[in-house]
Amino acid sequence: MNCFQKEIETLPRKEIEAIQLERLKWTVNYCYNNTEFYHKKLTEAGVFDGSKIKQLSDIQYIPYTTKDDFRDNYPFGMMAVPMKDIVRLHASSGTTGKPTVGVYTKEDLDIWSDCVARVAMAGGVTADDIIQISFGYGLFTGALGLHYGLEKVGAMVIPASSGNTEKQLMMMRDFGVTGLVATPSYALYLSEAIKDSAYPLSDYKLRLGILGSEPCTPEMREQIEKNMGVFVSDNYGMTELGGPGVSGDCPVRDGMHFAEDHFLPEIISRETDEPLGEGEVGELVVTTLTKKGMPVLRYRTKDVTKLTYEPCACGRTHARMSKTMGRTDDMLIIKGVNVFPTQIESVLISMDHIGPHYQLVVTRENFKDSLEIKVELVNADLLESYGELDKLKRRIEDKLKSVLGLQTKVTLVQPKTLERFQGKAKRILDLRNQ
Ligand code: ADP
Ligand code: ZN
Repeated sequence: MNCFQKEIETLPRKEIEAIQLERLKWTVNYCYNNTEFYHKKLTEAGVFDGSKIKQLSDIQYIPYTTKDDFRDNYPFGMMAVPMKDIVRLHASSGTTGKPTVGVYTKEDLDIWSDCVARVAMAGGVTADDIIQISFGYGLFTGALGLHYGLEKVGAMVIPASSGNTEKQLMMMRDFGVTGLVATPSYALYLSEAIKDSAYPLSDYKLRLGILGSEPCTPEMREQIEKNMGVFVSDNYGMTELGGPGVSGDCPVRDGMHFAEDHFLPEIISRETDEPLGEGEVGELVVTTLTKKGMPVLRYRTKDVTKLTYEPCACGRTHARMSKTMGRTDDMLIIKGVNVFPTQIESVLISMDHIGPHYQLVVTRENFKDSLEIKVELVNADLLESYGELDKLKRRIEDKLKSVLGLQTKVTLVQPKTLERFQGKAKRILDLRNQ
């Protein structure tokens, strides 16, 4: 078993929960005493210093923290230590508005890289690996998070950052890169560039893709694996919780293992905000258990997923979350039907003659919403035959209708004409409120 902290990652459930309870009590007390924001919130909720927390389910007495709380207290309002104890600042990429800020003490950074090292080793990384980090370096937690975690494993890290495809591929070949860290969309882009380049796949030593920071359907993963000859593992995290390392795939890939000694996950109903049980799909809520710089109680991630506590065939015992369907922000409501882009992606990638790149355009005319899906043909010759083109278009629309329960309009476009992404993909163009 390729494991970074085996004793912890395979602890019996009871012992994990005992650690969580002790650390939850500590965190509540710490938040109450060290941040004005939580002091007020916990006082109003009657939780105060946490002496009321006797068992894990008592977490329900603690109010949720939202992205708006981070924005309202931007940049340092939720910090729990004096500025002199902070050694690093990161901020979100701001996909959905004003960035949120995360700050770290020395100890936070150390724990963070432990968590990332776990995810990396669970994904197959060893000290022999040479890993190219093609996440954009900067305020984004992804690049430096993976950087220090991979160094802790003992792998050699190449801080390539994103951009300049030719150079990315040259570095991979020249330095004998065995693993790529990137977003799934950038990995897909690079994998197609390899296919199109003069150098065959045998000129590369790639064997691992450690991908994360946006949803990746199993179909997309398969495409990347096929193009690049790698084994892909998915990892999940966010700025508000400190970055990557919150959860990640093991070789079984039947859900991403949480670092449960550092993060306490829950699932709540998106409709009622009430806690849901194991296996039920809802919004992921996470409480940090060891963070000192900016601890977070019951953070509503907006990511839709489910949890299982069943021990995994890999031997790890920490809870697993399923691949997310996406964030609630990305969920489109078209004619009253809820649609996640990942559902569309799964359908598109499983069909012949079209490529994995797509764009979703939502419009409103005469108070009626419609969803257009632009997708690339693999072979431009098809554009010559109206009959064939129309047949393919209808086939895709029918398949989408059976999966989504919604009539969509598919537009087939020339190969390689849709935008490619070097970071997180932006595939939705919502023109309804313009
Ligand atoms: P921003 O909110 O600006 O994109 P972050 O980098 O903090 O900034 O993004 C965190 C979000 O990215 C998560 O809440 C989630 O929606 C998404 N995300 C991160 N990793 C994954 C993953 N492995 N699978 C699906 N979504 C992910
Ligand atoms: Zn596992």
